[in-house]
Amino acid sequence: MHWNKKFECMPLDQLKAFQLKNLKKTVAWVFDKVPFYTRKFKKLGISANDLKHIDDISKLPFTVKNDLRDNYPFGLCALPMDDIIGIHASSGTTGTPITNVYTQADLDQWAECVARNLWAYGVRKKDIVQNAYGYGLFTGGLGLHYGLLKIGCSIIPTSSGITERQVKLLKDFKPTALCSTPSYALTIAEKAEEMNIDIRKLPLKIGIFGAEPWTREMCSAIEERMGITALNIFGLTEMCGPGVGYECSVGQNGSHINEDHFIAEILDTKTFKPVPMGEKGELVFTSIQRQAMPLIRYRTKDITRFIPEKCSCGRTFVKIDRIFGRTDDMLIISGVNIFPSQIESFLFDIKEVDPQYRLIVRKKGYLDKLIVQVEARQEVYDKGEETRKQVEAKINSHIKDNIGISVDVNLVKPKFIGRSLGKAVRVVDER
Ligand SMILES: [Zn+2]
Repeated sequence: MHWNKKFECMPLDQLKAFQLKNLKKTVAWVFDKVPFYTRKFKKLGISANDLKHIDDISKLPFTVKNDLRDNYPFGLCALPMDDIIGIHASSGTTGTPITNVYTQADLDQWAECVARNLWAYGVRKKDIVQNAYGYGLFTGGLGLHYGLLKIGCSIIPTSSGITERQVKLLKDFKPTALCSTPSYALTIAEKAEEMNIDIRKLPLKIGIFGAEPWTREMCSAIEERMGITALNIFGLTEMCGPGVGYECSVGQNGSHINEDHFIAEILDTKTFKPVPMGEKGELVFTSIQRQAMPLIRYRTKDITRFIPEKCSCGRTFVKIDRIFGRTDDMLIISGVNIFPSQIESFLFDIKEVDPQYRLIVRKKGYLDKLIVQVEARQEVYDKGEETRKQVEAKINSHIKDNIGISVDVNLVKPKFIGRSLGKAVRVVDER
């Protein structure tokens, strides 16, 4: 059940020693090769020799998203372009894109990390896998592809989009696993229902979903509609892409981090000191086996916690909980901090609506107002305006009971909200 037992189940003292050795190597590497880090380390008067214990990582400076933007596109690359064989980038919808570059060794380590993920989900050589992550600059498509190649699966590289064809191939090619964002999986499920194809009766059994935060409730809804086990794959462009962390087969309760490649820290969002084990904070990563663009203490802005309990699967790699939200996505409405994922989980409690929603933030006088726009189920919508008003009131009071603020609920007709082909847009800020 382990792809690489030597590392995945390594005794903790050996793992810490391995991490320290590779952290020192990485720090010396970027000190020597990346002027951005040379300057930062010199300013703090620190070098690889000052790292005596793995906790000494706290002496190192942070890297933030703006550092990547300031050094766009290749300013943080440690090697000449001659050594680079792969380039990826984020979509750049919220500003300058974030780039990542890879040597052959970087692609090999990426494939290794993704293969461990897939293996833990039960994907084997005999599986046929439909990869509906976008192929291209986005790390999702090719990242999964490299891992699937390493295992030796039959890959159907559909990329995202052309949803009718995705459904047709699920029926005709009979894949046993599907990779996509969770919101796109829902789009596929919905299209299949429209086409009168029952995915639950097809051989599909495993869903490998990630690249956007999703709730436990969303996971159950997809499992129910597709008749599969849905598992989370965790990653970020800045580290490599998907494959940084993975859920294991013994329970969908958190993702193991590939700790021989990435050191994870969870820090208090104000003091930037480690939080006590099990408490929430900002997730920070250091890549310790990369060549082309290792990052030191990269602040992800993702909020999560370490799961303190030891996992019964035998892996010693630490587990992180789901991503509760990003400090970037946090909405402050009437002084209350809200993450879109909280609203999502409340909506799943309401059986009259479908899990298609948008949150619109608007100025109303001096105050910010949150509008929750959500699609009614067809039979509910057809009952008329009075029923719709009752459902809106029900959602409002459910949210108010739980987080103490009043929102405007806008129940819309089925298919009103645009469907996701990749990462869903959940928040529209009109302020
Ligand atoms: Zn486990």
